Amino acid sequence: MLTCKDFLNELSDYLDENVDAEVKSKLQKHITECPNCWVIADTTKKTIQIYKGMDPYPIPADVESRLMCALEKKIAAKRSGA
Ligand SMILES: [Zn+2]
Repeated sequence: MLTCKDFLNELSDYLDENVDAEVKSKLQKHITECPNCWVIADTTKKTIQIYKGMDPYPIPADVESRLMCALEKKIAAKRSGA
């Protein structure tokens, strides 16, 4: 029986398809039984996809400018001692 620690040790190889069929099936079985590891695997997979540019998710320009604006206001407020 695979533990969560074993799973996490193999996770990057698993996501790279770098494990043999036996290990892969064990890892897949663990995911179906362990919601925590499922979430970790799913999140890591998505992060890798974004990182590799397979599933780009750019921040929309208006969101970015609003974010910058909010940050500037916050910094300005801090500087003025408010
Ligand atoms: Zn687990």
